[in-house]
Amino acid sequence: MVPESFEVLSTRRDTSDTWTLELASCSDQALEFAPGQFTMISAGGSGEVPISISGNPYQPERLVHTVRAVGLATRALCAAQPGQRLAVRGPFGRSWPMDRLASADVVIAAGGIGLPPLRPAILSMLADRDRYGRIVLMYGGRTPAQLLFGDELDSWSKQGVEVLTTVDSAGPEWLGHVGVVTRLVNRIELDPARTVAISCGPEVMMRFVVAALRDAGVGAERIYASMERNMQCGIGHCGHCQLGPTLVCRDGPVYLWSEIEPWLAIREL
Ligand SMILES: Cc1cc2nc3c(=O)[nH]c(=O)nc-3n(C[C@H](O)[C@H](O)[C@H](O)COP(=O)(O)OP(=O)(O)OC[C@H]3O[C@@H](n4cnc5c(N)ncnc54)[C@H](O)[C@@H]3O)c2cc1C
Repeated sequence: MVPESFEVLSTRRDTSDTWTLELASCSDQALEFAPGQFTMISAGGSGEVPISISGNPYQPERLVHTVRAVGLATRALCAAQPGQRLAVRGPFGRSWPMDRLASADVVIAAGGIGLPPLRPAILSMLADRDRYGRIVLMYGGRTPAQLLFGDELDSWSKQGVEVLTTVDSAGPEWLGHVGVVTRLVNRIELDPARTVAISCGPEVMMRFVVAALRDAGVGAERIYASMERNMQCGIGHCGHCQLGPTLVCRDGPVYLWSEIEPWLAIREL
């Protein structure tokens, strides 16, 4: 429960409401983490919130978070300046199933701020590219300006990731896809028996992506999703993030879809 002090090394504005912060521990200790894990982080006095680690797992001496300013705590984090100290606990939670992804065709479905939690998995796969089959990234945002990591999407594409982007709406300068991420599923030819999918984004997006993947023949036991429910303690004590008989902070945020499907079928659970 005791937070550690981290210093902000740099900040980068990614979109109108999203910033990436690079931090280092004030005790010079690397924060080893697995792709998909999160920390509980606070700028002090504005509340502590769960934020996924968006950095490179092979560079644990840098803690990287990509934060969308939606309320008090996230606005304070996005306003943080180099040299400022933030309080960090973690890392917490169950990670993406990197061993299961090995030798599979990996389909990654991300919506909006759902891409940062997937970035460590992508970087990890690219660092060991031969271990994986196809890597397909389907990424959707509200507008072209809201898509994160634009330069990196190009670089991932050059490194053999099949990158498909789509936006909800765009002007005439946008030559890419328009529509929901779900539609991209129909554009890729999947081998369902070789495919393992990982997804993060708004819950409604993930539900539709899963339905499309299942229509394409991918079983629910081959699909993983990161559930970003409200949480407070981050370590399974307070019960705020309960999902069915599970706690998202302790048993998630990454779940096998077949594990949570029965609970998601219950309205407003
Ligand atoms: C495991 C996990 C990982 C996360 N990773 C990231 C990340 O990498 N980057 C990022 O920007 N955000 C992430 N979030 C969401 C982030 O924690 C919330 O945006 C934050 O708690 C909002 O706090 P606030 O005080 O700024 O806003 P509040 O004033 O608490 O809320 C502002 C608005 O955001 C909504 N909201 C609050 N919490 C959540 C939530 N957990 N999910 C969706 N909507 C919420 C509220 O309903 C309200 O409409 C993650 C959440 C979880 C559970």
